[in-house]
Amino acid sequence: MRFFYTCKQAHQMLSEGMDRQLSVAERAQLKLHLSMCRSCTNFSGQMRLLREAMKKMSKDGGNE
Ligand SMILES: [Zn+2]
Repeated sequence: MRFFYTCKQAHQMLSEGMDRQLSVAERAQLKLHLSMCRSCTNFSGQMRLLREAMKKMSKDGGNE
């Protein structure tokens, strides 16, 4: 098992994390990568914003 994720793996885990619950090991490795990688931290923030926006849209959707 590789100890560090590459940025590509980190991105994949971030998007998989939207669809399924990540395992403890996956989350730990992802967190470790994010703590060292500015660009993936930004990507993670964008994913979260996007997800919140989508949630809001589906909740308020069809109101217009
Ligand atoms: Zn990265």
